[in-house]
Amino acid sequence: LPVRYGAGEASVWVEYIQLAAEYKPAVNLGQGFPDYPPPQHVIKSLSDIASPDSFLLNQYTRGYGHPRLVQNLSKVYSPLINRQLDPMTEILVTNGAYEALYSAILGHVDEGDEVIVIEPFFDCYDFMIKSAGGVPKFIALKPKPTESELTSNNWVLDEKELTSLFNPKTKMLILNTPHNPLGKVFNREELEVIANLCKKHNVLCLSDEVYEWMVYEPNKHIRMATLPDMWDRTITIGSAGKTFSVTGWKIGWAYGPQKLMRNLQVVHQNCVYTCCTPIQEAVARSFEFELARVNTPECYFNSISRELVSKRDYFVKVLRENGFNPTVPDGGYFIIADWTKLKNKIDLTSERDKYQDYRFTKKFAKEAGVLTIPPSAFYSEQHKHLGEDFARFCFIKKDENLALAEKLMKEWN
Ligand code: PMP
Ligand code: GLN
Repeated sequence: LPVRYGAGEASVWVEYIQLAAEYKPAVNLGQGFPDYPPPQHVIKSLSDIASPDSFLLNQYTRGYGHPRLVQNLSKVYSPLINRQLDPMTEILVTNGAYEALYSAILGHVDEGDEVIVIEPFFDCYDFMIKSAGGVPKFIALKPKPTESELTSNNWVLDEKELTSLFNPKTKMLILNTPHNPLGKVFNREELEVIANLCKKHNVLCLSDEVYEWMVYEPNKHIRMATLPDMWDRTITIGSAGKTFSVTGWKIGWAYGPQKLMRNLQVVHQNCVYTCCTPIQEAVARSFEFELARVNTPECYFNSISRELVSKRDYFVKVLRENGFNPTVPDGGYFIIADWTKLKNKIDLTSERDKYQDYRFTKKFAKEAGVLTIPPSAFYSEQHKHLGEDFARFCFIKKDENLALAEKLMKEWN
């Protein structure tokens, strides 16, 4: 029988989670997930549901989204996008942000359509576009030289190059802000450039905003859907896993105008149909809890950035003191750090991988006991070299584990 996918279709997640299981590195700063408990009310909302009184919550719920959840999503987002979101027609609940991306891409991209993807990019975009028959067109963010410290704001798109990618075949552009892995939070001017091109060429914008709550001052998260005349051509994606630090719950959503959302609904109703009821109910209750304190500093949407910014600052310093050159992220929970000053401290010849960031991260995990992710996984084949000098560190980890990483890196150095 024909083999459709061979070893070429490797996934950095499959490979590095396997690596973590095999080598048991002392600290895992690889895959992005918190190693400490989510807010207590979030856990409680799920445990409350596991009761005989709630027995109906063990059955199927509404396919496009559990009513209590879509109603709460509408309450959360309507004020943020300055329009009343219709919970029944403008929101779709999905199996994680992954399925929201998949439904949006499969629901819109036809054979031969071009999709503009900004590099580095969350790796699944490429596969999803191609499986719909589309053609990804890549453009890389590049660091512009700076006298002061390198931050993710210094990574920019070349406007001319971006403009040149738009043509009559362009169907969609995928934006990710705050950005994984750079931590870049696109500012208004940058979003306007993208928005104006999308409008001029009648292109959809798929805006992956799963890290929307993790933004470090003075940066502000701006939703693409709020830019002038962008609502009609934007599908925005969020994730309960990121919002409440429960990545294993795998509930996500997309919102946008009804005529676009219909295309996602049709993919969803035939491929997934409905998502896990008890988890949707627990996410709904967690939103209700936060909505009751939404304008207070204690609201998790506000407190998570405060909690993370001190971890970011600490770990940036650790990286600098240990021979790395980090890009300070303005959002999200990853740091990209250039490791090439450490080249002569590490012998990479024993590793067989094609790209040197894979060789470095593997050897570094084995020698120092700190697992990270190779960023070339976030580039197209022709641009992988742009990621090879870096390693991605996840910092949504207990302070004691970040301190252990520091100790191990010092010893290794
Ligand atoms: N988009 C980006 C940029 C991500 O980093 C992730 C990883 N969680 C996802 C989408 C998928 O999110 P989920 O776990 O909710 O499927
Ligand atoms: N979004 C997370 C990351 O970038 C997890 C991705 C995954 O496990 N597929 O690390």
